[in-house]
Amino acid sequence: ASWWGHVEPAAKDPILGVTEAFLADPSPNKVNVGVGAYRDDNGKPVVLECVREAEKRIAGNLNMEYLPMGGSIKMIEESLKLAYGDDSELIKDKRIAAVQALSGTGACRLFADFQKRFLPDSQIYIPIPTWANHHNIWRDAHVPQRTFHYYHPETKGLDFAAMMDDIKNAPNGSFFLLHACAHNPTGVDPSEDQWREISHQFKVKNHFPFFDMAYQGFASGDPERDAKAIRIFLEDGHMIGCAQSFAKNMGLYGQRAGCLSILCENEIQAVAVKSQLQQIARPMYSNPPIHGALVVSIILSDSVLKSLWLKEVKGMANRIIGMRNALRENIENLGSNLSWEHITNQIGMFCYSGLTPEQVDRLTNDFHIYMTRNGRISMAGVTTGNVGYLANAIHEVSK
Ligand code: PMP
Repeated sequence: ASWWGHVEPAAKDPILGVTEAFLADPSPNKVNVGVGAYRDDNGKPVVLECVREAEKRIAGNLNMEYLPMGGSIKMIEESLKLAYGDDSELIKDKRIAAVQALSGTGACRLFADFQKRFLPDSQIYIPIPTWANHHNIWRDAHVPQRTFHYYHPETKGLDFAAMMDDIKNAPNGSFFLLHACAHNPTGVDPSEDQWREISHQFKVKNHFPFFDMAYQGFASGDPERDAKAIRIFLEDGHMIGCAQSFAKNMGLYGQRAGCLSILCENEIQAVAVKSQLQQIARPMYSNPPIHGALVVSIILSDSVLKSLWLKEVKGMANRIIGMRNALRENIENLGSNLSWEHITNQIGMFCYSGLTPEQVDRLTNDFHIYMTRNGRISMAGVTTGNVGYLANAIHEVSK
């Protein structure tokens, strides 16, 4: 008898599959706007200057001992200041249970497991659409999923009315997954006033907001501004949960640097919650990786490196915003009679173009342009060199 003969190959990941197809294409014109990682204007991956400098300080100076089970205390402290605010009373009062996590994915998964363990009958409301991995994460944690309206296909913006209805109609005390900024895949965020209304309604319904913040700084170029939704919920006295990732805003993708925090009613509760988060981590990976945590804590705790980082985040965000303008302008100049306003209204790494799966297939087959079939364009893959080609191809398939 065979041990593993019954194992069928897993379904291909829709995002990673795009990269594979791109790499296999010999065409010199090929363009990859599938992958969610920042590229410079030459299409090359970027290591930030502040990261290089932090690494110089690490090299030869620091040992490679295990971190504590909950991760680097310093890295957690700096992460919390970014999300909750430098002068947050909540931090001073030690009301936040926080652990270093395996980037944003690991933070979400740790939370989902914690939710299942301590509120086993709870569910999670997830926006439609969302980052596909959210579904996998809560599925594998055995938390039942419900969905709520988010995106409006006609306006290519927020379906605020339907979203509010779903919030009102959910049973009191429901868990909701919210993208703190730069919603993936749509690039559509609520306005500040809309966030205030959402927060108010969450209060009325006693819902739990869990913020996935994978792009702090990447939306506006300013991490403080991108934390606005979270700050509004904090002002309103919500007990929030938050997953932070340094993959995008520090370009630390493969280092798996992130933080999970859960705001508690008092310090005693926070100590208990943190100890339980560590209990969940212990049999899975024991303790988190050290290198990325050192990079993050060195940058954020040094005023010179932090300023450099803020400048570099702004640079990345601005390049993307510039490419949004260029893409829209190029398509409009070709005489398209469709509206492309959403390219510049949307924010963050992605443009949810509204192209149909058939149009995306044509982009790939006729023009060697690679992206997910839901029409999501990674603006990080758009450059001065390819924006004209991309615009022309989009115009051709959408006429
Ligand atoms: N949440 C969202 C919405 C994301 O887009 C991503 C990255 N694609 C993540 C979480 C997690 O990424 P990482 O685990 O690399 O931090």
